[in-house]
Amino acid sequence: MTEEALEIENKEIAKQYKRLLKISYRTLTKEDKKLIRSAFDLAVDAHKDQRRKSGEAYIFHPIAVAKIVASEIGLDSTSIAAALLHDVVEDTDYTIADIEQMFGEAVARIVDGLTKISHLSEDKDVSMQAENFRKMLLTLNEDIRVIIIKIADRLHNMQTMDSMPPHKQVKIASETLYIYAPLAHRIGMYNIKTELEDLSLKYTEPEVYNDIFSKIKDSKEQQDAYIESFTSILKNSLDKEELEYEIKGRPKSIYSIRRKMMVQNVTFDEVYDKFAVRIIYNAIPENEKFLAWKIYSIVTDHFRPNPTRLRDWISSPKSTGYEALHITVMGPKGRWVEVQIRSERMNEIAEKGFAAHYKYKNKEKGDVELDDWLNKLQDALGSDEISAVDFVEEFKLNLYAKEIFVFSPMGDLYSLPKGSTALDFAFSIHTEVGLHTRGTKVNGKLVPLSHHLKSGDQVEIITSDKAKPNANWLDYATSGRALTKIKSSLKEEEKLIAAEGKVVLARKLKSLKITLDENTINQLVNFFKIKTSLDLFYRVGAGIIDNKKLKEFAASRNNAFVSFFKNRLRKTSNPEDIDKEEITAKYDQLVFGKEEDKLDYKLAICCNPIPGDKVFGFITVSEGIKVHKKSCPNALQLQSNFSYRIIKAKWIDSTQSEFKSELVISGIDTMGLVNEVTKIISSNHNINMISVHFESDDGVFNGQVKVVVKNISILDNLVKNIKKINGIDKVTRV
Ligand code: MN
Repeated sequence: MTEEALEIENKEIAKQYKRLLKISYRTLTKEDKKLIRSAFDLAVDAHKDQRRKSGEAYIFHPIAVAKIVASEIGLDSTSIAAALLHDVVEDTDYTIADIEQMFGEAVARIVDGLTKISHLSEDKDVSMQAENFRKMLLTLNEDIRVIIIKIADRLHNMQTMDSMPPHKQVKIASETLYIYAPLAHRIGMYNIKTELEDLSLKYTEPEVYNDIFSKIKDSKEQQDAYIESFTSILKNSLDKEELEYEIKGRPKSIYSIRRKMMVQNVTFDEVYDKFAVRIIYNAIPENEKFLAWKIYSIVTDHFRPNPTRLRDWISSPKSTGYEALHITVMGPKGRWVEVQIRSERMNEIAEKGFAAHYKYKNKEKGDVELDDWLNKLQDALGSDEISAVDFVEEFKLNLYAKEIFVFSPMGDLYSLPKGSTALDFAFSIHTEVGLHTRGTKVNGKLVPLSHHLKSGDQVEIITSDKAKPNANWLDYATSGRALTKIKSSLKEEEKLIAAEGKVVLARKLKSLKITLDENTINQLVNFFKIKTSLDLFYRVGAGIIDNKKLKEFAASRNNAFVSFFKNRLRKTSNPEDIDKEEITAKYDQLVFGKEEDKLDYKLAICCNPIPGDKVFGFITVSEGIKVHKKSCPNALQLQSNFSYRIIKAKWIDSTQSEFKSELVISGIDTMGLVNEVTKIISSNHNINMISVHFESDDGVFNGQVKVVVKNISILDNLVKNIKKINGIDKVTRV
């Protein structure tokens, strides 16, 4: 760089610094300014040889971050100083000790926290990101300013990402969506959250972003005209009340419009609430709420409100501190418009988050709320049982979780997180109710346990002593409480079955003249290739290891030597006969075609094939399929003259092959019936389900299940077990 260029740059740095002091949201004292000045001087010196990817001097970055911290978020001088110094320890030779010596403990602690949240390198996967996130949240108990400055840092990085290679842009943008935007939201920094989301979209899906961006621009005039017409209708009435106010149109963010388009599967033009109308009024604290409702009353005098879309965040502010009165009204041209009524103070809180909170509320109260939130976070973080990824997912879930309100049949009100199912509701009443849920009714109608509840639903839980959780319930419940209870109940169930299985096993072995001792258990575990004795007992109890299998075990055990010797003897006496006998016994089934279908057939008299022979099927005109030996004298003639009537055929060992079977099931439709049927099928490792079809008609239940099984006895067992299910009337094989 030329000297001249350097001079211009230095002037620009000085200008930015002055600007930083000027735009601070908080009033800075002389002391404050002194602190910020020395932080600035150190940062300039420390970064003097560094340049950003774009080529500009590095110091512009910390200044920009400090500006966001000072103006957009409105933090104190300690935070502004820490923001200026945030990359010093990470990138230069200065240490935390240096910082502490020069700026005191508070600044040093924040810079330390920021340094500890190491930069996430581009190779790190989701779980690493999550781990970093967790680390970041752990610093919360030190000082929440660490996180806030980190978010400002991220915002500036997102704003200046153009000179980065595209793959890095996408990576950083996704991470921002994954971690930083939700966090900004949680802290109540809505403007920053929105900007982070929009910037992320710009890099992750540039076409979508540009498309919506230009459409918003195109519709700007229209929108202004609409707000103008809206305002003109209200103006007289508001003025008559001598209110000081401002009416603004607030366009929805690109990101949220796009989310709406996706969720509702609509085009840009079909998103009807692309902007909200904001009425910001001036009021003394004592009058704030009263005036909000006064304005509400005026607005609804002119426009019809949608009663289901009234939100009073003034009487009960959001946990982020957000306050406002939201209504949706039928505006000009018959369009629903959201109207947000906020005092100037509320508006500031909405835009600045906690910083504004501190300004207005007495500081102690603000601290209590913040501590409350931090404590909850700490609790969640303290649990080592969940992985970092789960934690982040859960955190984000809770972040956006909205509550729904449902009623019990007696009219008691319950609040549940949005997305809760009927089964979650059962567990929220009482664990015992949840564990014995047999069915659920919503607004008088039977619904599946997995049914998602909506606000206002009246939910009735039908219980039965016999009902108990099965593995599918894990898919039906969403709340942590329900899932934990279901899991432990399933474990219990498994133990019970195993205990029963052990008794059954001892009895069955006894009839096979085998005693159940440790040695036998080891042999059994080896023979059935399973891991533990608990598995063994469970399988016997569940009928997976049945009599037939135990007999096989007994046979294998009842000395292999004798049977081997006997075979030898017989073989030598008449080897051919024995072979035939064995083959005949083994190949007991004829199958046709590529699919190895079982079809009706007759054996041809001309060659009289027996099991094991090489054969083919011949489709006759009047007698169905006739099976000939391949060596049949007629074979050649049939094959050459009627090749299109030849069908492949072969003998198989039905105990080894798999075959398809279809079961038709009918009964009385009760909740959980389908679960139980599919559970029985899927819990048996020897059965593969190909297709399932269930339907219910006025309380009658009909189902078809196609399965693949290895042999008839497995199928018979399956039919038997399905018949045992309460409510099942008939099970037939097709
Ligand atoms: Mn930085």
